Amino acid sequence: MTTPWGFEDFDAHEDLHFVWNEETGLKAVIAVHSTHLGPAAGGCRFWNYENSADALKDALRLSRGMSYKNAMAGLPLGGGKAVILADKDRKKSPEMLHAFGKAVDGLCGRYVTAEDVGISVSDMIEVRRMTPFVAGLPAETGVGGDPGPHTSLGVFLGIKAAVKRALGRDNLNGLHIALQGAGSVATGVAMHAAAEGAKLSIADVDHAKAHKLAEAANGKVVGTDEILSLEADVLSPCALGAILDEQSIAALNVPIVAGGANNQLATPADGPRVQQRGILYAPDYVINAGGIINVSTEYLRDGDASLVRQRIEGIPGRLETIWAESESSGRDPASVADAMAQRLIGRG
Ligand code: NAD
Repeated sequence: MTTPWGFEDFDAHEDLHFVWNEETGLKAVIAVHSTHLGPAAGGCRFWNYENSADALKDALRLSRGMSYKNAMAGLPLGGGKAVILADKDRKKSPEMLHAFGKAVDGLCGRYVTAEDVGISVSDMIEVRRMTPFVAGLPAETGVGGDPGPHTSLGVFLGIKAAVKRALGRDNLNGLHIALQGAGSVATGVAMHAAAEGAKLSIADVDHAKAHKLAEAANGKVVGTDEILSLEADVLSPCALGAILDEQSIAALNVPIVAGGANNQLATPADGPRVQQRGILYAPDYVINAGGIINVSTEYLRDGDASLVRQRIEGIPGRLETIWAESESSGRDPASVADAMAQRLIGRG
């Protein structure tokens, strides 16, 4: 769309907040994309960006993704996201997290935060000292805490659905999964897949993490420059976004791309490119909704652990609906999902 602000990726976001706290070194962007379905919910990312423009771009793209994700998961939540611009050493302090919590509190519940890349449960406990608009906290009810394992479960179930559709197989036994990332989401995906007999190749810029996960999941470590073109049955991107572009798509050597990373497609043109290669793509914000499903159930207090699991088990069905419409309409799955999500948030 044309943007009144002159920056790319602006998508009629309802509001954007630039936060600066000199004393603690906090520099953050909070993006509220849509509150059409409820409070804008989405995690907080702590990352050392090359520059402020990259951080803003991430906040804009991620918050729109949250609107789409929450809508497609059937949650009564809008979409938002926060990014904290870390320095090179990624130094974080309780005081910085408190300053972030005050900024979230100032939005009076329009934005609800939780964990994302670089933010742990203990960080969220610090943020909670300043604001109630937080989820991803350890909860007595058993629903709460790190959303990562719930995201992993949804991604694993989504991979199985993709394998069923593209390869006609009911389980992952003997299949080769190329996993980009060895963090929270990737770890759960690897452990579920390994338990079903999948063979894993794992790459992470943090080699120690890659080796640790490879050992636990009986996989092997491969280079970060190899993972996207590795010959495998499934590529599961579980690190950062924008990894599928013209060049990397041309080099893909898999029939399926299904992973937990947000914003895997670098541009809208990349969805059709993946489809043209005959590769089945699982739209990221549909397959990776397990974490926000848990966060939502915790924040809204509208269910227990078994209901969370039931809701996560709905992910394969939603993917099936998208793939079926993609097949009948000829449009790529990402475009189909975007159109569905836009209708749900009143922008269709
Ligand atoms: P994490 O920080 O635990 O793990 C991310 C890992 O990716 C790190 O180990 C990092 O070293 C690695 N990495 C970064 N750049 C890489 C590269 N170029 N090649 C290989 N590895 C690289 O984060 P996470 O919580 O596991 O999240 C992973 C992705 O899933 C992110 O895109 C996140 O937004 C998305 N996601 C996470 C959740 C959740 O519940 N945690 C939910 C939905 C989506």
